[in-house]
Amino acid sequence: MAEQVDTLIVGSGFAGLGAAVRLDEAGRRDWLMLEKADTLGGTWRDNVYPGCACDVESHLYSFSFFPNDEWTRTFARQSEIRSYLEDVADHFRLRDRIRFGAHVTGAEWDGAAWDVTLADGSALRARYVVFGTGALHEPAVPEIEGLERFAGAAFHSAQWDHTVDLRGKRVAVIGTGASAIQFVPAVAPETAHLTLFQRTAPWVLPKPDRPIRERTRRAFRRVPGLRRAYRTALYWRHEALVVGFLHPKIMSVVERAARLYLRRAFAGDPELRRAVTPDFTIGCKRILMSNDYYPALRRDDVTVETAGIARITERGVVTTDGVEHPCDVIVFGTGFRVGDGMSRMAITGRDGVKLADAWRDGPQAYHGTTVAGFPNLFTLVGPNTGLGHSSMVLMIESQLNYVLDAMALVDRNRAVAIDTRADAQDAHNAELQERLGSAVWGAGGCASWYLDENGRNRTLWPGYTFTFRNRTRRADPAAHELVA
Ligand code: NAP
Repeated sequence: MAEQVDTLIVGSGFAGLGAAVRLDEAGRRDWLMLEKADTLGGTWRDNVYPGCACDVESHLYSFSFFPNDEWTRTFARQSEIRSYLEDVADHFRLRDRIRFGAHVTGAEWDGAAWDVTLADGSALRARYVVFGTGALHEPAVPEIEGLERFAGAAFHSAQWDHTVDLRGKRVAVIGTGASAIQFVPAVAPETAHLTLFQRTAPWVLPKPDRPIRERTRRAFRRVPGLRRAYRTALYWRHEALVVGFLHPKIMSVVERAARLYLRRAFAGDPELRRAVTPDFTIGCKRILMSNDYYPALRRDDVTVETAGIARITERGVVTTDGVEHPCDVIVFGTGFRVGDGMSRMAITGRDGVKLADAWRDGPQAYHGTTVAGFPNLFTLVGPNTGLGHSSMVLMIESQLNYVLDAMALVDRNRAVAIDTRADAQDAHNAELQERLGSAVWGAGGCASWYLDENGRNRTLWPGYTFTFRNRTRRADPAAHELVA
C-alpha cells in the first residue's frame, strides 16, 4: 500500500513553505512536503548567480506571519532571502516533514484521493495536493544553431557554473532581463571583455537599494508597529503603480523618469544611449531596477551588441551581420519556460482528463488556484497570479486563504473533495482577459513571456493585490461542486 497523507505539498520555495505553515496553523498537520532538490528554497536556492537579489523590498517580500526585523538591505540579496526561508522552516518546525530528492512526475485522481508518482518509481496517496512549483523555474536556453560546437563553457543564469573562473575571460551574455541586469555589473569588472547581446532593450529605473543600519533595525525591534508601518507604506507605494499598468497612457509619467535616468547615465554617449533605449511602453515588460547596470554598459571592456544572433561557432557568437564575436564563455540570461511545468507532469483529473489537455490552449484556473475537473488540487503561483508591480508573497498568502477555506468547506459538508465549476472558471477567465486586453502588457507594443504564443496573458493578475486578497478570502460555494 502506498504511503498516505492528508496533504502533499510539492516544492519548498515561498509557496510550499507558506502552505506548510498555514496548514499547521489550521490544525492540518498531516502533510508531507516533496522537494526534488536536496535543500529548500525554490528559486532562491537555484539562482545563485553573482549579484542575485530581489527587486522588491524585503520588508514586503516576506511572509506577513514571519516578519524579519533584521533585513540588512532594503532589497535583500539572494543569500539573505535563502537564509530567511531556512529560518521559516526552523521556526515553524517544518523540516521533519520535508522529503528531499523527491521529484513528482504525475498524479491521478481516483475519485477519493490523488495517487502521486515520483521519479524514482515510488508512489504516495494524498487527499489534497498543493503545488508550489513556481512559474519561473525551468531555465530556457534558446536553440541557437551551433551551440553544441562551442568549445568553451556555456551555462544559464539559473544554473550558474561557479567552477568557471571568469577572470580574464571573454564573456558573451545573451539576454537583458531581470537576471542579466543583475549579473552583468557583478561580473563585468573581472572579465577581459564582456559582450552583451541585447535583443530588446529593457526599461530600467534606479533602485532605491541601501543598507538598513543597525539603528533602524533596533528601532524595528523596539518600537511597536514601526516595522508594520514601514511595510504598509511600501505596500501602498507599489499598489499605486497598478493604475498605470491598467491605463498605459498614465505610464508616460514613469517613462519620463526612466528617460531622464537614461539621459543622465549615458551623458556624452548618445549612440550607446540610443542603442539601449526601449521602443515600447514602459511596463509592457517587467520594469527593471538597477543602479549599476547602465554604468556597467559604459565600461570600456563592455560592448552592447544589438545585431541578432545568427549562430554559434566553436570560437564565439556570429551575428546576423556576419561578424564573429570571439568568446571563452557564454552565459544565457534568457529566462525560463514559463508556467508550463505543471502541464508537462502527468496529471489526470476526473473522468480521465489530463491537465495537459485541459490546458492545451494555455493554462487557466479559478483565482489562479483551482482547476475545474481537478478536485482537491491547488496551484500556488498558478495562472494569472503573477505581478508586475509588487511582492508575489502577497499573492501566495491570498491563495493560501482560499486553499484553507476550500478545505474547511469540504470538512463542513463532510464531502470528499471540492471541484471548481467549469462555468465559474470560464466566466472568471473571460473577465480577466477583458481587463488584460487594454492593459499595458498587451497594448504596450512588446513581446514578453507574460503573453503566450496566441498573445493571451496567462501569467499576470491585472489589478490590485487587495482585490485579489478580497476575492480569495473565501472559497465561494456557488463556484464549486462538493464531491461526496
Ligand atoms: P527574462 O526576463 O525572460 O529575460 C530573458 C532575456 O533573454 C530577454 O532580454 C530576452 O530578450 C532574451 N532572450 C531570450 N531568448 C533569446 C534569444 N533567442 N536571443 C536573444 N535574446 C534572447 O528572464 P530573466 O531575466 O531570467 O527574468 C525572468 C523573470 O524572473 C523576471 O521577469 C522576474 O519575474 C524574475 N526575476 C526576478 C528577479 C527579482 O529581482 N525579483 C530577478 C531575476 C529574475 P527579449 O526581451 O527580446 O525577449
